[in-house]
Amino acid sequence: MNSNEKKIWMDGSIVDWNKATIHILTHALHYATAVFEGIRCYKTVNGLAVFRLSDHVQRLINSGKIYFMDIKYSKKQLEKAVIDTINANGVEESYVRPIAYYGYGKMGVNPLPNKVSVAIATWVWDEHLKREMHYEEKGVRLMVSAWMRIDGRTMPFLAKATANYANSALARVEALKAGFDEAIMLNTSGKVIEASAENIFMVKDSILITPPTSSGALEGITRDTVLTIAKENKIPYEIRDISRDELYIADEVFLTGTAAGIKPVAEIDNRSIADGREGLTTKQIKEKFGLVVYDRDDELSKKWLTFVE
Ligand code: PMP
Repeated sequence: MNSNEKKIWMDGSIVDWNKATIHILTHALHYATAVFEGIRCYKTVNGLAVFRLSDHVQRLINSGKIYFMDIKYSKKQLEKAVIDTINANGVEESYVRPIAYYGYGKMGVNPLPNKVSVAIATWVWDEHLKREMHYEEKGVRLMVSAWMRIDGRTMPFLAKATANYANSALARVEALKAGFDEAIMLNTSGKVIEASAENIFMVKDSILITPPTSSGALEGITRDTVLTIAKENKIPYEIRDISRDELYIADEVFLTGTAAGIKPVAEIDNRSIADGREGLTTKQIKEKFGLVVYDRDDELSKKWLTFVE
């Protein structure tokens, strides 16, 4: 299916891809007053299924709440809308992008006079970290960005808001222009927080370590999935701040995100992480993650997959 044949859900109607347009004076375009989600629909052994749909929709609702958004749809209606969008678009494995935004009406910083609209699009997306096959074996190359991650005193970091991604984009572009694959971002205390669009984990002496969300990381759903897998498989883990130099001498580092999946890290700031190859813990978690999302894990697949009728 090419884009022209695809459909997008807009405020309750399924419309043609090319007709899913909004006014140039849409509030969200000018003042970044939108919140969004990134969800994956996997082609499991038992058919198409959305991974952790309820958790993603809840995060969208929470993000909207933080920005005083009056989203007119209930959680159940939004979940159904995601399924309807996938159904309208055929049988492929896809990435799903719901967005809630302040629309066209009154310009000015205050968004509240404007209606909140919701749209849901879906496409096949091999995000840039997923695309290159050799990364699967080699891992990605990261640099620590000079841009600090947004601080809780400036922006609410638990909202997955479009505004936050101006900060992410600056860091991502800085890394790409310097010849790296992705940027690691530090918080205003100089601690490692996350990558521009992924959470970060390191392994040291067989212990899995990730920074706390209270230090500024997004409450990543893949991050939570990895922590659950660790718990179930008795992999010891700690949630604590990580310093930049700790990463350099880690045994393993990997990134997690809905778009990127689980990505081993080969290098940070031109220092090789261990021998630069995917580590054993990363491999174990990645394999287990694959079982869960493709409906091959009895307990977690049942808990987290919503099948598309
Ligand atoms: N941090 C940031 C800044 C992100 O944009 C994302 C992607 N949503 C993540 C972490 C990972 O979150 P998730 O696993 O829910 O996709």
